[in-house]
Amino acid sequence: MTSIVKPRSYIIKTRFFPFFPFRFFTPLPMTSVIDPSTIGKPRRPRRHVRTLTGYLPDTDEAGEAKWPRGEEKIWRAGTRGVDSDVPSITKSFVNHVQTSLARQAYNLDNLGAYQAAALSVRDSLLVNWNDTQMNYTRKAPKRAYYLSLEFLMGRTLDNALLNLGLKEPYAKGIKGLGFSIEDILEQERDAGLGNGGLGRLAACYLDSAATQELPVWGYGLRYKYGIFQQLISPEGNQLEAPDPWLDNQNPWELPRLDVTYEIRFYGQADRLNDGTGRALWTGGQEVLAVAYDVMIPGYGHRTTNNLRLWESKPKRGFDLNSFNAGNYEAAVESSNSAAAITAVLYPNDHTSFGKELRLKQQYFWTAASLADIIRRFKNLGKPMTKFPEYVAIQLNDTHPTLAIPELMRILIDEEDFDWDTAWQIVTQTFFYTNHTVLPEALEKWPVPLIEHVLPRHLQIIYDINLFFLQSVERKFPGDRDRLARMSLIEEGTPKQVRMAFLACIGSRKVNGVAELHSDLVRTTILKDFVEFEGISKFGNVTNGITPRRWLDQCNPELSALISKTLKLEKDVWLKDLTKLEGLLPFAEEKKFRREWTAIKQRNKERLAHYVQTTLGYTVNTNALFDVQIKRLHEYKRQTLNILGVIHRYLSLKNMTPAQRKKAIPRVVFFAGKAAPAYYIAKLTIRLIVNVARVINNDPETKEYLTLFFLPDYSVSLAEILIPASDISQHISTAGTEASGTSNMKFCLNGGLLLGTVDGANIEIAEEVGEANVFFFGHLTPAVEDIRYQHLYHPVPIETKCPALANVIDQVSQGLFGPGDVYEPLLNTIRQTDYYLLTDDFDSYIAALAMVDEAYADKEEWAKKSIRTTAKMGKFSSDRAIMEYAESYWNLEPTPVPPGPAL
Ligand SMILES: *Cc1c(COP(=O)(O)O)cnc(C)c1O
Repeated sequence: MTSIVKPRSYIIKTRFFPFFPFRFFTPLPMTSVIDPSTIGKPRRPRRHVRTLTGYLPDTDEAGEAKWPRGEEKIWRAGTRGVDSDVPSITKSFVNHVQTSLARQAYNLDNLGAYQAAALSVRDSLLVNWNDTQMNYTRKAPKRAYYLSLEFLMGRTLDNALLNLGLKEPYAKGIKGLGFSIEDILEQERDAGLGNGGLGRLAACYLDSAATQELPVWGYGLRYKYGIFQQLISPEGNQLEAPDPWLDNQNPWELPRLDVTYEIRFYGQADRLNDGTGRALWTGGQEVLAVAYDVMIPGYGHRTTNNLRLWESKPKRGFDLNSFNAGNYEAAVESSNSAAAITAVLYPNDHTSFGKELRLKQQYFWTAASLADIIRRFKNLGKPMTKFPEYVAIQLNDTHPTLAIPELMRILIDEEDFDWDTAWQIVTQTFFYTNHTVLPEALEKWPVPLIEHVLPRHLQIIYDINLFFLQSVERKFPGDRDRLARMSLIEEGTPKQVRMAFLACIGSRKVNGVAELHSDLVRTTILKDFVEFEGISKFGNVTNGITPRRWLDQCNPELSALISKTLKLEKDVWLKDLTKLEGLLPFAEEKKFRREWTAIKQRNKERLAHYVQTTLGYTVNTNALFDVQIKRLHEYKRQTLNILGVIHRYLSLKNMTPAQRKKAIPRVVFFAGKAAPAYYIAKLTIRLIVNVARVINNDPETKEYLTLFFLPDYSVSLAEILIPASDISQHISTAGTEASGTSNMKFCLNGGLLLGTVDGANIEIAEEVGEANVFFFGHLTPAVEDIRYQHLYHPVPIETKCPALANVIDQVSQGLFGPGDVYEPLLNTIRQTDYYLLTDDFDSYIAALAMVDEAYADKEEWAKKSIRTTAKMGKFSSDRAIMEYAESYWNLEPTPVPPGPAL
């Protein structure tokens, strides 16, 4: 379907330009040539669609076919996918090899086998997907749309097999053909359309929404290049290579070349001055958004939701305006820039840069998504005033905030609504999730940039601000400071639009992602808004993770042991994770502890094998495995960890061999990417790699301490590391990590947590009991005062924290290669120490010692591990998504009727 979002005046212009070259054409003021009554109506040409002869439409409420059966011509599309028996699977696999792939049965490699398996599984998904969409169309429930600039999906085949319940027959069928399912699964490239936690959360939520049979679609961008591939140079520097993840073709996406929208940039916006508030936005660049659909199967039933990703394309092969002006080169340039919009994911996590292309990505994606959502709503035949009764839109962080002025623009300029009615509709539709209170991550866009790229939206933002500040003024008369603090426009050169404030006032509800974080949102960055709008608008939904991927898939042995122990099929407890509590009594049984520990051991060996084959190092699997894997960022304090490792190394060096023999052997794993422009984070990687080089080759200590930086952290690598961890580190400066989700993944897999009192660590400790976690460090309320002390009453590190001072000296003096390289990193600690390393180091070292002590008692450690897994029920993303559905979106599960489609 083509839906055209294009004012009539534009059509006139393009018609005439070819005949009247630009230079002879004196533009007339738009307002005088256009009759306002003729514009603004969306032109949505009817599709010429027909029903296939003999097609049997959907069943009625009672499940009866509406058309009489038994008539010869009656048939129905997509009645079945691939049957779940091994011979049918084999047949479908071979079919795809020979037809879809056009390859010979005697000439197939693992990649080809993967593609054939994927296409075969896709056939089954498609049936469910079609029936799900038809079911939604028929029942017309309220729908929710999850707008996220990132979806960190990882691999799909294994997950699809699990959710369809087809893992075993496919493994058998493929084995029968001489291939191994494990090898085939390894062929798939990660869909890395995200940076870290925010994108992975979106992926977990899609899995949970489908599993709970909720009518939820995701909307995102189809980046040609996902998150960069990380390489480590011989010096230890991070290098970035492009991630051409689509190069082998992507069997999981369905191009919808007929679902397109035209998206405008630049041009001019002329207010009509006809008393309606409408304006006319014309000229500029028009880019085509093309839809690609990704099927999202629910676990254990047929509901298969949709993730719609937009690709940008030039509207025509070249820009007609430039062509007419005789500028062929600019025309080609402009077609390049259309494709550039979805070329690459911006690789920044928790930082915002005011780049024009990023702004264009954000508008392109929100405008295409809204146009699509509105078209679907209009098919219901309801007036736009009913929009919020049928549509909820969740804004994943401020990235999609332009959807708010965009919906205002559509309602006012195209649908003829007055301002107040339009604002009413908008503020009932949107919901905003805040993901951070870090100042550098709060999005702000320069006013001149928005004015240039989106002139009409800037007008609307100014209007929203005017009416909003008027209402603030009425409630708090004469409070000029308050008006300045709350204005959507931050004064300065240039002025900037504060996107979090726009998202807040344009939404029905605002939430943070863990209890502490939501409190911080309410008491710091949005304090004035809580005072103005009332506390009830500001809630919390603690993040979650899908136990399908993060337990059953990545740790199948543990999953099987849990099912056996609970005497429950896994499809019961994987859908109600609180059932894990049933494991608690078994913590007391020695036999069970032995089985539990043996599985952990095999997962450690699997990781050791990975390190052996990728880095060529042998790993001591009898050591304690200590893991910190996440984006590299100063607030996450990988630096604290590596300095702690050096401290341990220096202590070991100072011991006699006899003393050393009593030490708990430890293997420390790091993985994570740094933003390419984040100099300090990249220096931390360099330090880790060079410390590893020294420590791993020291014959005195390497039995007791080794260290690995695993390059190119990804979802698939996380799936190997997480089940193998004994302890994982989540050691952000208190108040900086909004939630964290990898903390949940580790604990679900029986890894214990070493962390600060921050984000979801706090709620994990509440669930599993403080006796089962290792906490250290200053608390959130102290942080501000300490930072003030650092600035105005600094104490030398030598006095404050001699142990840390010694470690820093050793680095500086060249124990791990030329010390001057690390000076900028070390200076962040010596100088303002914004992230409180000097304040938390001693208690961190003490916590590490407590971990050693606890690990020495293997039985007690196993109990802690079991108790931790047992209490992780709260952190299923099923719980989180149901909170959104019930408390925010007002959404009902809408199951696909059971049984074969017909
Ligand atoms: C879960 C996950 C994250 C988030 O990790 P945090 O430790 O919560 O920051 C980042 N990247 C990947 C690949 C993940 O799977």
